[in-house]
Amino acid sequence: MGGTTVAAGLVGADGQVLEHCQAPTHVRGAGTALATIEALLERLCDIARARGVAITGVGIGVPGTVDAERGVVGVDVHYAPELAGVPLGDRLAAPLSGVPVFVDNDVNALALAEWTWGAGRGARSLVMLALGTGVGAGIILDGRLHRGQAGFGGELGHVPIDFDGRPCICGGRGCLKSYVSGTDIALRATERLGRPTSAAEVFRLAAGGDAAADEVVAEVCRALGAGLAIIVNGLNPERILLAGSVAKSLRPIEARLRASLAGYAFAQALAATHLEILTQDKDATVRGGAALVGYETHRRRTATS
Ligand SMILES: [Zn+2]
Repeated sequence: MGGTTVAAGLVGADGQVLEHCQAPTHVRGAGTALATIEALLERLCDIARARGVAITGVGIGVPGTVDAERGVVGVDVHYAPELAGVPLGDRLAAPLSGVPVFVDNDVNALALAEWTWGAGRGARSLVMLALGTGVGAGIILDGRLHRGQAGFGGELGHVPIDFDGRPCICGGRGCLKSYVSGTDIALRATERLGRPTSAAEVFRLAAGGDAAADEVVAEVCRALGAGLAIIVNGLNPERILLAGSVAKSLRPIEARLRASLAGYAFAQALAATHLEILTQDKDATVRGGAALVGYETHRRRTATS
């Protein structure tokens, strides 16, 4: 689920998306994200029944912190605050007669999907950084998802890269997110250009030679270079995957981003880290939920045996 849209799907054990459906998160009004999720789940259950497909698990990614062990959403769920503290796993499992429901941070789920079926396949360690409405990350270290002690593992959107920087929605200041999320890029572009400008548009304008737009893009590259260097120097993962709506705009300026990163990271650490910018489709999002089911089913089975 995202702050704007909830995407849902029926996914096979091989990662193939058999059905896809989606709805605006707050299609029923403010505070109604849970009803949207329940309606989509019900629709997919009907479709599965009609197809004669058995559902073996439900996985859901939420944009915020989650107590994944208990399936309870944390308080830091800025784009759907009505879900704060909701025992989402139990709520969704109730009508499903025994089908397990797993809840996790949205980018953790995305990272698991790329690790299971995509660009992270076979890696011992990887970090996925998703730049969209907000900025989130999923960290896999030595073959395990790193959730952290209280579910904050991977909150890399809120590492401060400018200690005197702007206040952030998280209560901190100078957070990476305030410079590289789609929302914040648009905000800065709008300020700098003096008219409403989207993130995608400012990248296009900069490519066309607009100097003011290029200043915004330069700042994105500097901020993201610093943010990525925190990952490279701090974790030295085998792979870093960049995803989310902003990733598409970064593809054409990849060399510029890499140059910025090289200015902040240990050269040897960077040389050992494979950085890839992914342009994902809707199916990739939906696979996240399925990958979470696969990962958790295996983890809980091996933990109890
Ligand atoms: Zn923050």
